[in-house]
Amino acid sequence: MIELESARARVLEGCAALTPVRVDLAEACGLVLAETVVADQLLPPFANTAVDGYAIRAADAAGATHGSPVRLAVVETIAAGAASSRVLGAGEAMQIMTGAPIPAGADAVVMVEDTNAAGHGELVEIRRSVLAGDAVRPAGDDVHPGDRLFLPGEVLSPAHVGVLASLGRLDVLVHPRVRVGVISTGDELVEGPVPLQPGQIRDSNRITLLALVDAAGATGVDLGLVRDDEELIRQAFVAAAATCDAIISSGGVSMGEFDFVKRVLDEVGQMNWMQVAIRPAKPLAFGTIDGTPVFGLPGNPVSSMVSFELFARPGLRRLAGHHDEELVRNSLRAVTGEPFPRSPDGKTHFVRVVAANVEGRYVVRSAGGQGSHQLAVMAAANALVVLPDGDGVPAGHEVALLLLG
Ligand code: AMP
Ligand code: MG
Repeated sequence: MIELESARARVLEGCAALTPVRVDLAEACGLVLAETVVADQLLPPFANTAVDGYAIRAADAAGATHGSPVRLAVVETIAAGAASSRVLGAGEAMQIMTGAPIPAGADAVVMVEDTNAAGHGELVEIRRSVLAGDAVRPAGDDVHPGDRLFLPGEVLSPAHVGVLASLGRLDVLVHPRVRVGVISTGDELVEGPVPLQPGQIRDSNRITLLALVDAAGATGVDLGLVRDDEELIRQAFVAAAATCDAIISSGGVSMGEFDFVKRVLDEVGQMNWMQVAIRPAKPLAFGTIDGTPVFGLPGNPVSSMVSFELFARPGLRRLAGHHDEELVRNSLRAVTGEPFPRSPDGKTHFVRVVAANVEGRYVVRSAGGQGSHQLAVMAAANALVVLPDGDGVPAGHEVALLLLG
């Protein structure tokens, strides 16, 4: 058996970040930046008002209160998107809307709630004094030319694409969204509401893995259900390698007699067949076909999910350009709410649990049976407890936790 970390290192070696491409901002959120974004302009581009109100000279309203307001002459109205060409003089005010440029000569804005229109709109009563700069957002308050805003490896968030749009950018250089072909193999598998013949079960891995691929920020490509037929399996993998950035298959990597997946992958690709010291998900095949990474995950539904979490997800994140420190989910500390017994077997166990946040710390209880076929238990679980080799742990013990989803 090979240790988890060594197996994962082999996987990551075969997964290099995809070549950067330019994508429209509308498609960029969630992708990993592949350029340094340096500002070439001020944001905001001009000084503007933070409130609806009146632009004034603060000195003109010194001492103004509700009881003794100061009256100023309203000489213009400036809407957002407009600008005043005149200079505000002493004793004057300009009505101004949020975001509109501060007129020359003004140094503060009084919010409309602290004013009263008078003299049929020709006058305004200022009912509160302000300081120079009040409610004024200076040009460059957010960004200056030359600011190094974003660095390669940053994940673009909604705010990131908003800043890029503010700078006038229409596209951005990123690592592309990873296209992942997902294949199920096995003669026992059928789909949909058809009556099951003896020995048949329904394919659940493909839909589950496609969902996991999507949740990992990649795009799943459904490559269907392939029979245990050498030629069909060969065609499916070769076509997938030609059209996808990565391939995930499930089934056929254990020791079954009719598993042609192993024979085919050895023929068309360079594969590592591993027995990882973990439970579930001991068997793992990883390699490449013409440079395209291939993850051969075990067929048991829970095993394929755990294997995806521990190997495929980090590999896909690497293809997507994520930094090395951000490939594997951070493990949290949790406390066992009940005993977690196990027997020594040389493996690290990943126990399906329900983790509840109790006053700021996670308390974990088993989600149910721990068989690698018990997918409904996986559905009830929200986390995996990492149980090191040994005799298990009592209630009240600290354990490492991987929060899923
Ligand atoms: P294998 O890895 O092919 O030996 O399969 C191990 C177990 O997983 C068997 O019980 C299979 O029937 C089951 N299995 C394989 N592929 C799938 C699938 N796509 N959906 C659900 N169960 C599967
Ligand atoms: Mg099989």
